[in-house]
Amino acid sequence: MSYKNFTEIASFSFPVEAHIAKASLESADIPAFLTNENVINMQWLYSHAMGGVKVHVPEEFEAEARIILETDFSDNLATGSNEPKRICSNCGSDKLQVYTKGKKPAFLVFLLLGFPLFFYQHGFKCIKCGKFDKV
Ligand SMILES: [Zn+2]
Repeated sequence: MSYKNFTEIASFSFPVEAHIAKASLESADIPAFLTNENVINMQWLYSHAMGGVKVHVPEEFEAEARIILETDFSDNLATGSNEPKRICSNCGSDKLQVYTKGKKPAFLVFLLLGFPLFFYQHGFKCIKCGKFDKV
């Protein structure tokens, strides 16, 4: 099947987030593709300047795709009471904060060398003991 017109339905600062969105759409049989991903993988500090990694779907799927993305990402927000309780894998504390590991060293290396050498990970950091858990 081929589609003529595509529309941008979302953009994300990090390629991993765009991939989650794309996977959600594809699991609902909505064809989706990403743009800017490779540029941002190489120069992720440009992400905001370029409007992030963009998710595109065929126009005829736009309404459905928006509903799926809104549903998925509202579930991921840590505010809802239906959020599964996360606890620290080290001390069992539930005092966790969203944390991106490796962002600062990557930024420093970027300043020195012109490119980020470290890969960073999204996850949660325990406020009590400082243990980092991947998402
Ligand atoms: Zn802990």
